[in-house]
Amino acid sequence: WSAGSTLEEIPDKYYIAPEHNVTQPRRANATILMLARNSDADSAVKSVRELEDKFNRKYKYPWVFLNEEPFSEEFKKRISNVASGEVHFGLVPHDHWFQPDWIDEEKATAARKKMEDDHIIYGGSLSYRNMCRFNSGFFYRNPILQNYRWYWRVEPDVHFHCEIDYDPFLYMEENDKVYGFTITMYEYLATIPTLWDTVQKFIKENPQYLAPENAVNYLSDDGGKSFNLCHFWSNFEIADMNFWRGEAYSKFFDYLDATGGFYYERWGDAPVHSIAVSLFARKNQIHFFDDIGYEHNPYTHCPRGAGKWEKGKCSCNPDRSFDYDGYSCMKQWDRIQ
Ligand code: GDP
Ligand code: MN
Repeated sequence: WSAGSTLEEIPDKYYIAPEHNVTQPRRANATILMLARNSDADSAVKSVRELEDKFNRKYKYPWVFLNEEPFSEEFKKRISNVASGEVHFGLVPHDHWFQPDWIDEEKATAARKKMEDDHIIYGGSLSYRNMCRFNSGFFYRNPILQNYRWYWRVEPDVHFHCEIDYDPFLYMEENDKVYGFTITMYEYLATIPTLWDTVQKFIKENPQYLAPENAVNYLSDDGGKSFNLCHFWSNFEIADMNFWRGEAYSKFFDYLDATGGFYYERWGDAPVHSIAVSLFARKNQIHFFDDIGYEHNPYTHCPRGAGKWEKGKCSCNPDRSFDYDGYSCMKQWDRIQ
């Protein structure tokens, strides 16, 4: 694969920053979303400050913050100080977060213990599992998010390296996209040993949900028999909640959830989202946001397409982009273009 050869170009009309426009820009029905704890205040504020500087001060999209505990006055005050648009602080309903009663606690405890002994990242953590299940199947059901169709997921302590001088939400909407990513990589097999088997069973029972021209060949090197562990790194997502709210994904999530795999293993929201979008959407509904320079420790995506790094005045090193790392799945992504 060769750098920059297969990228979709973003048409110039999206590059008109509203500050250069005399009229008020059209906005999408969108919000910028962050799940955070009160203890994340310092790093959450920094992420907001950066995305505001690089993008949102020109667009003023509303922010939504979610937490399974009430946000502290300090958190709310510090975030409101740096956000340019409206800010909503929401509580995650109990049943969207905590482990359901029907999970066999002995089995779940044993699984956590085993994964911790095996030194699997977050292997012993219950709260991490709650978070992954919430991000897989519940965030878009939060009452505050009912008002929105599009979201941009942001985490504490991430970095945006380039000026974003167009509206990615409108780009998604006008080009019939459902899911946008910046970084793609391999998942740890030990966290999802039975996930692919479960997906295959679901597809066998519900073949009608498979999209024509889907992206199965990004997920699999043998036409769908086995999972190659490639997924979109979900700490960055720009996506359409109508996709998660739709019949295919709703049934899919319920099917996965019923196996208990979020607790008996450690299924991440990244592989769950990625598998669904790669199977139930057309491959050209998935968008690689090459022009958004993005960093979540320890990896950075730096624009690689011709002229993009210059256009964005990016602070990242274009030669050190994760896209070129052996652990990146950019080669699988390029293969299906
Ligand atoms: P990693 O990126 O996989 O290492 O996981 P993070 O620790 O960054 O967590 C992912 C996202 O979920 C971040 O936005 C965190 O702020 C958030 N998060 C993780 N655990 C919790 C939790 O127990 N409560 C809340 N409210 N947010 C959490
Ligand atoms: Mn993170």
